[in-house]
Amino acid sequence: MSSVVTRDPATGEVLATYAAHDDAGVEQALADTHAASLLWRETPLDQRLQLLRGVGKLLTERREEYAALITGEMGKPLAEALAEVDKCAWSCEVVADLAPGWLADHEVASAASRSWLSYEPLGVVFAVMPWNFPFWQVLRFASAALAAGNAALLKHSPDVTGCALAIEHLVADAGAPAGLFRSLVVAAEDVPAVSKRVVEDPRVAAVTLTGSERAGSSVAALAGAAIKKTVLELGGSDPFVVLADADVEAAAATAVRARFTNTGQSCVCAKRFVVHEDVADAFLERFVDHMSLLEVAPMAREDLRDGILRQVAETVAQGARLVVGGRAIDGPGWYVEPTLLVDVEPGMTAFDEETFGPVATITRARDDDHAVELANATTFGLGASVWGSPEHALAVGRRIRSGALFVNAMVASDPRLPFGGIGRSGYGRELSAEGVREFTNVRTVVVA
Ligand code: NAP
Repeated sequence: MSSVVTRDPATGEVLATYAAHDDAGVEQALADTHAASLLWRETPLDQRLQLLRGVGKLLTERREEYAALITGEMGKPLAEALAEVDKCAWSCEVVADLAPGWLADHEVASAASRSWLSYEPLGVVFAVMPWNFPFWQVLRFASAALAAGNAALLKHSPDVTGCALAIEHLVADAGAPAGLFRSLVVAAEDVPAVSKRVVEDPRVAAVTLTGSERAGSSVAALAGAAIKKTVLELGGSDPFVVLADADVEAAAATAVRARFTNTGQSCVCAKRFVVHEDVADAFLERFVDHMSLLEVAPMAREDLRDGILRQVAETVAQGARLVVGGRAIDGPGWYVEPTLLVDVEPGMTAFDEETFGPVATITRARDDDHAVELANATTFGLGASVWGSPEHALAVGRRIRSGALFVNAMVASDPRLPFGGIGRSGYGRELSAEGVREFTNVRTVVVA
């Protein structure tokens, strides 16, 4: 029987081996979630939201247990794992508080005596999720999907199978009807076939995927062929633009956090620092100072570590200058030195490709127009952070293409605000009213 193995990124050692679902197991999960979705769609909204409050409460009670699981499976520092669990609990509360407004009927004046939009559940939502925020990525989607009256079928990254199963138990322990949230354990060799089968199954109504462009494109192609709604949250190469009138110290301190949080393994990490030449030296000096204070954690997988080291080597060979780091750290585990490359230009690997690890690049801009041109020189469009006097930074930021614009702050998600990208960063939104409504049938009702 196929299996899935998890490893500790800090040591490379095996943590656990899980039996993968076979054909009958996949069928059972489809049947369970479908049956639960029929029950759940008839469950009043206040009861659905009670479930989310229960999930939030359990997350808080079990925060140490879940944080240890996250750190064990994907390597982030325990403090960051605790913060991730706390954010999930907060998000459940926010959805429980605000979803009545987000899902209320919306009256629209028309020639009819009455007309309105109602937000109705779709059914089973299939979710393909990555390892980088193993709880947050799942709860972000699931809190919206369940609030809207759907059931959830998760295919998590195999690297975090313990988290996937823990979340299934969490939702059940909070009082969900049997089968409302199921996790599929899928062996690597079976992923394409199982995804195809699940996406094509008539009991599955919609698909959401967070991950790479490659995965997004292949799963969305299946969903397109089956004419099913998709939401894609893919990669990013977010610009962090520092203008001549920026508070350079504040920008540099935030820049280091924005790049190196989660060991650089976040889609909304700032990845390309575009700095006006008048403040570039001062910014670089402070950036290096703040880098020296970083707590170093391992990357999640060996191949991801090797990939980021390849990007660094190529970029240096293309003419960039390595200022800090650049190597794997000797010893067990998949550690990479926090790395800074300067004189990075379009056409170089670390500028053109997403860098999903602890590698920052600095590019000098001659003026605002050049800064905008550099910021937009990417196929991605997730978040943009622009630093300068507020009006100036806002005016420059409006010219940058992205799903989110943050002025004098790092890009971060907030359950009250929509989150998502444009271009090759994907489409659709998660979180907030927009996120909850993605998983609904926006139904027009007209009474003559
Ligand atoms: P990945 O390969 O895309 O994996 C993400 C998820 O997609 C995993 O569950 C993976 O399962 C699954 N997957 C991959 N190919 C699939 C296929 N053909 N059919 C069905 N499922 C498939 O991502 P990664 O390489 O581990 O992570 C790095 C990339 O993900 C980066 O580009 C990063 O920007 C992106 N990412 C984006 C976000 C975001 O919020 N936008 C968050 C995290 C990561 P298997 O591993 O079993 O294939």
